[in-house]
Amino acid sequence: MDRQEALTATPPGLRRRVWCQECGRELTDPESRRRRLGPECDPDTRTSHTRHDADQDPIPGL
Ligand SMILES: [Zn+2]
Repeated sequence: MDRQEALTATPPGLRRRVWCQECGRELTDPESRRRRLGPECDPDTRTSHTRHDADQDPIPGL
């Protein structure tokens, strides 16, 4: 049984590892890896889809 060790090639399924520039944690989600910043260190919050709808128009006539 002769098997060649293909250590030169990147193992399939293993992507390039990216760490947070701020705290050094490994980033797993694509958005964080692209920014090289973890969600906890990224000043630009991206997960908050909740907005404060404080200025909703009151329905007149009720
Ligand atoms: Zn971080």
